[in-house]
Amino acid sequence: MTPNCNHPLHRYRGFLLDIDGVLVRGETPLPNAPDALAHLRAIGPVVLLTNNSTKSRQRAATHLSERGLPVSPDEVIPSSFVAARYLRTEHGLVRFWYLGEGGIPEEMALTGHVLVEPLHAEWIVVGMDRALTYAKLAQALRALLAGARLLATNRDATYPTKTGLVPGGGAVVGALEGMGFPPEVVVGKPSPIAYHAALKALGIAPEEALMIGDRLETDIAGGHSVGMNTALVLSGISTVAGIEQTGIRPTWVAPDLAALVRGEVLTL
Ligand SMILES: [Mg+2]
Repeated sequence: MTPNCNHPLHRYRGFLLDIDGVLVRGETPLPNAPDALAHLRAIGPVVLLTNNSTKSRQRAATHLSERGLPVSPDEVIPSSFVAARYLRTEHGLVRFWYLGEGGIPEEMALTGHVLVEPLHAEWIVVGMDRALTYAKLAQALRALLAGARLLATNRDATYPTKTGLVPGGGAVVGALEGMGFPPEVVVGKPSPIAYHAALKALGIAPEEALMIGDRLETDIAGGHSVGMNTALVLSGISTVAGIEQTGIRPTWVAPDLAALVRGEVLTL
């Protein structure tokens, strides 16, 4: 790519990218995604903002790097990290318990929060949990009845894997809602909390950054809510028809990230 002042991306100083459907599909990088990521970094800093709470920043970066997409831990912001930082900023260091996978306790501990037994928890932090059991739901219920507050890392209904969709963080949140306990706060996209955490990491104002994602209702709508320009790539969930159906209009639309980086945007 040669520098070109008319190129749509050269008006931005930094980029927030979703991962699934933008850089990878399932476990596999999308065609030319590593090159496209390198081109974006040549324009400005990049942060990968994902609702996936199952991994810490370190593990998410290692996971992507091992699959041919080299990224540093500083470039990844999972909802587990957003949750830990949000709680520290708004409530100080807290005693917590969690329903979820390794990313939640790792990021919470790195931030200084303390993992305790459910009945001693001030906060229950919830995300996708592939080892969820009735017994764990019962422990969560007892903690919530005893006054624990509930934070959801995300409420994504499903999660894409190479063998198809599996239940996402929203399934765990839904189980708790079904017991009468909706989350007090959801920090993942489309929550502004996620975008502000990522913009803080970039050190860039919303109007100077571009959000690139594949889901209109989360990536794109959330970006607009904090005043960002957005780019929808059609390599994941949402379609051009979805733009009409939802009325959510991205600033740019491109077939995929590589095409966006080449400046090949669609005119709708
Ligand atoms: Mg996605």
